[in-house]
Parts: sequence; structure tokens; C-alpha cells
Amino acid sequence: MADAEDTMMVRFAPLTHVLLGPPGPQRVRVSQSLLVLALYLGFALVLQVEVHLGLTSERLSLPLTLFGLMGCIGFYSTIRSGLNLRLSEPSLTRPQMFYSMVAVAWAFAVSGPPRGATVVLMQVILMFGLFGLPPREGRRMAGMGFLMLAAVIAWRSWTLADPAETRLDLVYLMYAGIVFTGVAIISVRLGQIRERLRHQAAELKLALARNQELATRDVLTGLTNRRAMLEQMAIAAREIERHGQPLALVLFDLDHFKQINDSRGHAAGDRVLQRFGEVALAEIRAGDVLARWGGEEFLLMLPRTGLEEAWRCAERIRARLAALKLEGGQAGMPLTFSAGVSSCRRMDQLDAAIEAADRAMYLAKATGRNRTELVAGPGLTEVGQGAAA
Ligand code: GH3
Ligand code: MG
Ligand code: MG
Repeated sequence: MADAEDTMMVRFAPLTHVLLGPPGPQRVRVSQSLLVLALYLGFALVLQVEVHLGLTSERLSLPLTLFGLMGCIGFYSTIRSGLNLRLSEPSLTRPQMFYSMVAVAWAFAVSGPPRGATVVLMQVILMFGLFGLPPREGRRMAGMGFLMLAAVIAWRSWTLADPAETRLDLVYLMYAGIVFTGVAIISVRLGQIRERLRHQAAELKLALARNQELATRDVLTGLTNRRAMLEQMAIAAREIERHGQPLALVLFDLDHFKQINDSRGHAAGDRVLQRFGEVALAEIRAGDVLARWGGEEFLLMLPRTGLEEAWRCAERIRARLAALKLEGGQAGMPLTFSAGVSSCRRMDQLDAAIEAADRAMYLAKATGRNRTELVAGPGLTEVGQGAAA
């Protein structure tokens, strides 16, 4: 069954393509103009039935039938050819509505006794407007439709001899008044619903952005968190691999940090972590990313950067920190860090490069702290060349 349906789809696909054009907003517009054409054909058929039953004059209905057909074909061709895209309103909702309303008012003018039913057609046109136009314009269209009918009725009472017809027309106009008032009320309700939906969509967007922020930021320092850093490193590594450039990593670990907590309290420790983040951020380039990697460890990624340049960056941060004279963990000593630098040139070397930076950092600890060490990372020879350059 599904196979048969698929075969049908394939067989009709070219026809659909010719009729509707490629998928997209333009196809929606084309489909709508074809839907209007289908509704119009229904209208033309009823008009023919009226003629056939002797209720409406053939001579009067023929120009109207042609007028409607021309309009439908005209709107369809304008949209299908893409001419509509040059206009301020590519959907052509307003002109299509206006044209159809003229056709319905005309039908009221030339139809025999069934003319009262044309009010229903007016309502259908206005319903299209409710979805395609701002509420106020929808109401304006309803008002215009009512005035068109009123004008036709005035013209009929002027030209027709029988006052009974005019009395009947006035009753139709009163019904039209009720219908159009109803449409106006619905347009207000729809406007409110649309406004609420817009509001909800905006709130959802905001909540998504907030969630995204929470998922990628470290709560304490506001820096990139470990998870987001891993993602960003993967993206950057792919990028440098394509361009054959190195990517450097610097792992910082604050010295004797535990003693800050022990002597001055956890809150003071937190403030030191935040302060370090601010100081380091101020010293890095726009494309570099600083992350809180663990408790008092920070990882800096420097794309398109060699080992030595990364080392100099770490030393700049050290100098800045020293200049600020922040109190460190040991009584009377400034806040310092030990750092390890490594680099890589390929995506598959990233994990090894992180490990190398870690080893270098431990070397810095082991050799006296408050220093930055380079360790041979993955792709040692390339790194050596990068650092020497
Ligand atoms: P070393 O110089 O060898 O790195 O010594 P250290 O004291 O800095 O290292 P250690 O690993 O012994 O201690 C790290 C401390 O960092 C222990 C932990 O309580 C503290 N820490 C981790 N996360 C936080 C945090 O979010 N806030 C605060 N205030 N302290 C933290
Ligand atoms: Mg540590
Ligand atoms: Mg430490």
C-alpha cells in the first residue's frame, strides 16, 4: 500500500513541481492561489446552475464569470512566475481579497433571487483575510465588503422598479451586517491569540538562550565550562587542521589554593577564582577561549598559536597577577599559578595535548611552582618547528 502511494507520488511529482514550483514560501502562495481558483470554479458552476434553472440571466452572468476566471488566472500566473516577489506584499492577500469582493458584489448585482447567498461568499473571503492580514486590516476589509454590498443595493434600488426587491435587499444587507460584525469580533480574538503566541515564542527563545548560557558557562566565574570547552576545542582543532596551523593549550593551576580556603574561608577562595578569571580574560585575544577546567584549574585554548607565543601569553597573565598583588595561599605571599603549555596540529592529537599540558603543569609544580613549563606534546617535531618560528 505504502509502495503504491510512493509510486503515485513519484509519478505526480513533476506535475506538482510544474504547477506549484519548488518547495518554500512561494509554493505556499501558489497553492493558495490555486485553492482560490478551485473555490472560484465552484462559484462559476453554481452561477451556471442558476442560469440553467432560469434564476439568473446568462447575458449578465457571462462577463462576471470571465472577470472571475481572468482574476484567478492572473493572480496564479503572477505568483507562479515570481513577479509577486517584486511587490511589497508578495502574498497578494489584499489585492486577491479586493478582487474577489468586487466579484461577489457583482454577483449580488446580477443574480436573481439567490443573490442573498452571496453574503456567505463574502464571509469566506474575509475568513482568508483573518489569517493573512493584521486584525485591523481584516476589520477594514469587512467594512469595505459591507459598503460594496450597500452600494450595489443602492444602485439596484435606483435602477429597479420593484420596491419589494429593495426591501428584500435591505434584509440581506442586515444579515450581511451581522456576518461582518461576527468576522470583526473573531478578528479581535484571533489578534489576541496571535499576540499571545508571539509573546510565548519570545519567552521560549529567551528561556532557550538562558538554558544555553547555563549549559555552557561556569556558575562561579562565568567562564566557559569544561563541557563547552571540549566542544569548542573540537571545533577549533578541526579548523586548524584544515589550515595546517598549530593550536596551543595552557593549563593553569593556582598555587597553594587550598590554604586560601583554609585560612580565609571558602567565600574568599571563590572570589580569588573569579578574580583570576577576570585578570586572565583581559590578557587573551578575541579568538582565545578560557575555561574553568576544574576546581582551581583553568584551561586556555589559543587557536593558530605556537608553543612560545602561548608561553608568553601565560607569562603576561603571571605579570598582571603579580602587579595586582593579590594575596595567595601562603601567609604574606602573592597569588601565583603553575602552568603547563602544549600544542597540537590535528584533531586526533587533542586529548594527548591536554594530557601533555597537564604533565607540563605538574612539572612546573615539581620544579618550584609560580612558573610555566613546556612539555613535548603530540606531533613533537611540528610543535618544535611551530615554537621556533
Ligand atoms: P597546589 O599548589 O599543589 O596546586 O596546591 P593546592 O592547594 O592549590 O591544590 P589542592 O589540589 O590540594 O587543592 C585545591 C583546592 O581547591 C581544594 C578545593 O577545596 C579547592 N576548591 C576547588 N573548587 C573550589 C571552589 O569552587 N571554590 C573554592 N573556594 N575552593 C575550591
Ligand atoms: Mg589542582
Ligand atoms: Mg592548586
